[in-house]
Amino acid sequence: MLHVAVVGSGPSGVYTAQSLVQQDPLVRVDVLDRLPCPYGLVRYGVAPDHEKIKSLQGNLRSVLEQERIRFLGGVQVGGAGGVSPARLRELYHAVVYCVGAATDRQLGVPGEELPGSWSATEFVAWYSAHPDALPGGFVPGARTAVVIGVGNVAVDVTRMLARAAPQLSPTDLPQAALTAFAESKVTEVHMVGRRGPSQARFTTKELRELGSLPDTEVVVEEAELALDPGYADPSGLPAPQRRNIEVLRDWAAAPPRGALRRIRLRFFLRPVELLSDAGRVGAVRFERTLPDAAGGITGTGRYEEIEAQLVLRSVGYRGVPLEGLPFDGAGGTVPHEAGRVLREGGVCQGEYVAGWIKRGPTGVIGTNRSCAKETVTSLLQDAPRLLRREVPEDALPALRADGLAPVGWDGWLAIERAEAELGASLGRSVVKLPDWPSLRAAASTAAP
Ligand code: NAP
Repeated sequence: MLHVAVVGSGPSGVYTAQSLVQQDPLVRVDVLDRLPCPYGLVRYGVAPDHEKIKSLQGNLRSVLEQERIRFLGGVQVGGAGGVSPARLRELYHAVVYCVGAATDRQLGVPGEELPGSWSATEFVAWYSAHPDALPGGFVPGARTAVVIGVGNVAVDVTRMLARAAPQLSPTDLPQAALTAFAESKVTEVHMVGRRGPSQARFTTKELRELGSLPDTEVVVEEAELALDPGYADPSGLPAPQRRNIEVLRDWAAAPPRGALRRIRLRFFLRPVELLSDAGRVGAVRFERTLPDAAGGITGTGRYEEIEAQLVLRSVGYRGVPLEGLPFDGAGGTVPHEAGRVLREGGVCQGEYVAGWIKRGPTGVIGTNRSCAKETVTSLLQDAPRLLRREVPEDALPALRADGLAPVGWDGWLAIERAEAELGASLGRSVVKLPDWPSLRAAASTAAP
């Protein structure tokens, strides 16, 4: 038997485990996760109102319930109190790191740290009930929000800000976030791109959804869109961008409806400073940009300020270095060759990567399938050499002896039950447990 540890139980980790057991009948996989809950960004990143994508949890679950796969939650790899990558190498023939991109990119402009300015990652963690999320509610007092960036995460957070509580109540949104959204006074959300509409990163389905939100209208300025040569003549654009332009063109032609809430999509505005109002963010200062011939932008020296009591910086995720593993700081990834970790130009025996830590924070959930498959193919090619090293028949006793207390699948099922009970007690369906004490308490009710 080849014993493999997969670190991370998001889509890339689960697809890696699945591919391993599918391709080799003599593999056993432990899927480790820092949290007692599986599914990574499907649980803690996909917006709660995207129920169809959330339902992917069912597919991931059926993988984690397979006989040769075991979920071990609450196991931190690296750092104080965790298990080190070196120790994992002693306990398993191979380790595949599927740890994603755990932090956000910085804007690098003055005022970024003002109260009221948050990364989209922080905001998403809060409404997704991540146990490490910052408390605070984010929206109290804000009437106008600016979302910086025009990727799918920017669309998610914009949409969440524009939703009314009755649309969110049927989701698994934690109760405190539901209350905060119910009390939100935000009526104006500006989603702002530094380049033009033909270079925006959002996908058409997600973009179009903004136009179907109740009591909300999308406002775009024809003159601003037309700064983009790809808007005036989209014939040379790839099909996805052409479809985005069609959606924007329809919105530009629509007369104002005077809806309760407005989403303003803005382009060719580069953030240069977040401005303070009595110690909190009060506005964002942008420089007007213009397209250059190479798909980039140039500044014009003309500026515009947009009022905002809430700023969400949605400019992409970033991988973080893992103790003991090489790291490419520029890309936020672990250097690899077809999934094999590279150290000083050579392949590290028995260490692999898949998902965002391998290729950077791009692509949809399904992209992780082919990414995992490539890594697993490399690993299984290496198997004869990996098997020469002796490892314990079962790593769990050794992990326990090291002072770790993994939460098994039963613990996770107990958390699920507690979330269903909480939902029922609040007259809602499932409601997520938002903090470590409640997750630990629920997991501890599982039979030992
Ligand atoms: P993203 O797609 O890379 O978009 C990042 C946005 O931030 C871009 O508009 C980028 O503009 C902008 N940006 C970067 N640096 C900036 C700066 N210094 N100033 C101003 N703007 C800046 O990242 P994401 O939205 O975080 O999404 C990550 C991945 O998750 C993507 O693959 C996405 O499709 C996926 N995702 C999918 C869904 C879904 O399918 N529903 C939902 C959420 C996320 P430039 O292009 O000019 O750099």
